[in-house]
Amino acid sequence: MAKELVFYIVVDIFGALLSLFLGIYAVLKIRNTPGGKHYIIATLLSSLFTLFYVFELTSSSLEEIKMWIRMEYLPLSFLPVFILLMCFEFVGAKIKTGFYYVLFGLPMLTIFLQFTNDYHHIYYTSMKLKENSPFPVADLTGGPWFYIHSIFLYACVVISIVILLKHVKMVHFKFKMQLILMSLGLFAPIIGSIFYLSGTSPYSIDTGPISMSLSFLFHGAALFSFRMFNVAPIFRDIVFESMKEGVIVLNEERKVVDYNHVAKKIVPTLKSKMIGYRLDEILEKNSLLLEIIQQEKEQDYKWSIDQKTGHYHISYSPVYNKMDKLIGKVITFSDVTERVEMQEKLQKLASIDGLTQVYNRTFFLKETERLIESLSIEGAEIACIMFDIDHFKQINDTHGHEAGDTILKHVVNMAQSSLNEEDLIGRFGGEEFIIFMPNSSLQDAYKLAEETRKKIFESNKLVNGKKITVTSSFGISNTITKFGKNRPSFEELMNQADQALYTAKRTGRNCVCLFADMLQKT
Ligand code: GH3
Ligand code: MG
Ligand code: MG
Repeated sequence: MAKELVFYIVVDIFGALLSLFLGIYAVLKIRNTPGGKHYIIATLLSSLFTLFYVFELTSSSLEEIKMWIRMEYLPLSFLPVFILLMCFEFVGAKIKTGFYYVLFGLPMLTIFLQFTNDYHHIYYTSMKLKENSPFPVADLTGGPWFYIHSIFLYACVVISIVILLKHVKMVHFKFKMQLILMSLGLFAPIIGSIFYLSGTSPYSIDTGPISMSLSFLFHGAALFSFRMFNVAPIFRDIVFESMKEGVIVLNEERKVVDYNHVAKKIVPTLKSKMIGYRLDEILEKNSLLLEIIQQEKEQDYKWSIDQKTGHYHISYSPVYNKMDKLIGKVITFSDVTERVEMQEKLQKLASIDGLTQVYNRTFFLKETERLIESLSIEGAEIACIMFDIDHFKQINDTHGHEAGDTILKHVVNMAQSSLNEEDLIGRFGGEEFIIFMPNSSLQDAYKLAEETRKKIFESNKLVNGKKITVTSSFGISNTITKFGKNRPSFEELMNQADQALYTAKRTGRNCVCLFADMLQKT
């Protein structure tokens, strides 16, 4: 065997073993490092490729050489793909799903064309033995697909280098070294294959396989050193984007420096071109959120877009540099939707009457008190209506308790259908209800009570196939509420309405009585 050939065979076997060793070592040490798994696959593919190349070198006939070339393409076609994937994952960049089809489809086509080349010569237009060579070496002439495959291979490597170098600027010094090592690793096979393709490699021996193994030394060094810094700036995307919280980072001039996709969901006007803008420019149309953030209020914020709603608790953390100088602020939006909805549910349970779904007495009184407080600032006319179902005991006795419940709900529905938007209704006791009307005159209240009374009387509710006629009696009181004025309390107002209701009952039921009328009569 020629001495030179022995030398290349030994060097390539060394290359194959080196790749294999790096692959196995990577399985043990760095399989969970970003890019680690792809590194393992790439080293093993490279090892196989180099091994097949050794067989090619030791082949004695053109047929044998052709067979090993085809075998080489099984790992070789996918090698650049896994290198590309490794680099992308290493820097935390994402690849679009559609792109995967290209990344895996093209190598598969290459393998197919390699294996069927004898029938179409699309990959190699000619394959023969090199003349004047001391040992059998293939003399190959590339066809159209050879160039497509080469462009694909270089494109993968170039994109990998670009993506690595793009990140060099963004990261801390110690990570720059890793990125540079990774990039250097990618230059090695390029230089190796330029040698081969330009015809300057000795005896046309492909220097690609051995340079490939060397390149993995660089990649390995980068990945092994990466292990020391588990969560690193290079990892920013992965950590930052996988957070459940929305995060916006501002610098000391209150300009947006960074944000994650959850923050973008909450503040849709955050777009990448908005980096460097002040928050008041970005939140121009959301004055509520802007005010909360400007005043650094730690509070819940109700978010709603396209019929979706959520609740976020907004909090702030200052950011200091090593000299303890304030350099910015991190605004965090934590999803508290579940907590707020639970609170709302509990509050509803505590405030709503289970049967009729109107406010219970306690909540009604609290809410009315609050409303009167705010109405008193400007001064307003308010009215109170108390009403009670007539002879309800009889309805229960005749038709049963369940029918009684249905009637209660029906009466409430009738009353609710007459209410104005501002009016409040509550269940005061068994079959007695109360309505509070802010900004309403005695006439307004009388009209509403009369309308409701008529509706209830005329509705003749069908229960279990039987028509039940229900009547009810109403008592009304009203007053003008104003701060500082000697005004009656709401309790007094209720008392007056109750007295009017009592009169309504006494005077035959199914009617409306005004407390004011009673005063005139006395
Ligand atoms: P009046 O015309 O004087 O108001 O006579 P009434 O029978 O309506 O008044 P009374 O206070 O004597 O009876 C009220 C009845 O309402 C007694 C009680 O059993 C019934 N009741 C109270 N709460 C409920 C309820 O939630 N469901 C049902 N079905 N009945 C109720
Ligand atoms: Mg009654
Ligand atoms: Mg009653």
